[in-house]
Amino acid sequence: MIEVDTTTALLLYMGLFLFLYLGAWAISHLKNRNKETLPPLYLLTTCEYCHFQYLGKNGTQISRCPQCSSLNKKP
Ligand SMILES: [Zn+2]
Repeated sequence: MIEVDTTTALLLYMGLFLFLYLGAWAISHLKNRNKETLPPLYLLTTCEYCHFQYLGKNGTQISRCPQCSSLNKKP
């Protein structure tokens, strides 16, 4: 019979628990790594005339600058 003292048994138990926990985390991380995310609702837009930066709605081609009220075309 193999004799194992309490400290060794506790270390083996903790090592096995840590190995299984990190293995489960690595598997879930690798599965979710390549998933596509939703497109952003707002994009940072710079006004062509006054160079003011604001958040314009994504999906529209023309947005209005809140500072000078001019229309800007998305790049
Ligand atoms: Zn502007």
